[in-house]
Amino acid sequence: MKLRDTARFSTICIHAGQTPDPATGAIITPIYQTSTYVQEALGKHKGYEYARTQNPTRAAFEANIAAIENGPAAFGFASGMAATGAVMTLLQSGDHVVVTDNTYGGTYRLFERVLRKYQLDFTYVDTSRIDDIAAAITSKTKMLFLETPTNPVLRLTDLAGACSLARARGVVVAVDNTFASPYIQRPIDFGADLVIHSTTKFLNGHSDSVGGVVVATREDHIEWLRFVQNAEGAIIGPMDAWLVLRGTKTLPIRMERHNANAMVLAEFLASHPKVTLVHYPGLPSHPQHALAKTQMRGFGGLISFALGSFERARTLLNSVRLMALAESLGGVETLISHPATMTHASVPPDRRQQLGIADDLVRVSVGIEDVEDLKEDLAQALDRI
Ligand SMILES: *Cc1c(COP(=O)(O)O)cnc(C)c1O
Repeated sequence: MKLRDTARFSTICIHAGQTPDPATGAIITPIYQTSTYVQEALGKHKGYEYARTQNPTRAAFEANIAAIENGPAAFGFASGMAATGAVMTLLQSGDHVVVTDNTYGGTYRLFERVLRKYQLDFTYVDTSRIDDIAAAITSKTKMLFLETPTNPVLRLTDLAGACSLARARGVVVAVDNTFASPYIQRPIDFGADLVIHSTTKFLNGHSDSVGGVVVATREDHIEWLRFVQNAEGAIIGPMDAWLVLRGTKTLPIRMERHNANAMVLAEFLASHPKVTLVHYPGLPSHPQHALAKTQMRGFGGLISFALGSFERARTLLNSVRLMALAESLGGVETLISHPATMTHASVPPDRRQQLGIADDLVRVSVGIEDVEDLKEDLAQALDRI
């Protein structure tokens, strides 16, 4: 089971980082649920000493995700936020970061409430406008932190354009690729230096684990992240690493179905008289549909749409039967949520308004159920309005 350099995406997802277990031949990398490793003699061991520092299940997970994102190395963390936190330790006090204005709420909270204490400075801009990124870069700017598509209004950033601008200005680019997944876009191929995932979402894909990962390309970043993963110790555990390894095997076929189902539901919603607005990059009405077609493989599993008032949104959310009212995304089951009071409740109302997260907006993480059942569920819930 040696992967050739020419191996294609689905093959990489299933095989990269995994060889039959040397002890038994088990085809699946075992969950090495151990804290330490017995050494043969003083100073003589198999490369494993203590499980914060090295774990074979985590190593397989890291090699697998690195290959999937087309990077040389990856590091597993306890959550997506722990992964983002580790990336930010590449910076020093006094450094400035330009951030996508509609970034994940937890990222905004980490930057504003925690990292500002250490004299890091952040400017939030609409990174769908390259000129706005350029205007925000100062002599202190060390990092451009991007998210595309954004949550929940699915605005895109031109990855190739943003990365070449950053490179010219000596700014490192980190991309939170959680919303798209590497099936849809691989930021390193567009010039990004670092890719972050909450593996909790599409990479694991089954809503049964919390984890994070950073894929790094630069040797100095790789060296530092390896050091800080051990020094801070916010590692992903072997059980969660194993679950994500199982998840990535089916990533391509899950994403194909997420893409297909979301497209059908987006078109259904766009043509429904009670829906006033649909955000989905696959619709020609999306302002960046042309960019989506060149940058993304399919348009992803997330849709948001507006219903005209909070009351109408509440009626819909309380009327769905198959779709589950819940935060999170990227699992095989369809989840529906109300960003203004759920995922984005901590964002101040005026800022929410500015970002387009209105009180009548509903978000769907479209699962891989039969799309006719999903459509029927939405139709009966819309009928109740
Ligand atoms: C969920 C999420 C995170 C945070 O990940 P956790 O695993 O919940 O810590 C970061 N970024 C995006 C885009 C997310 O959706």
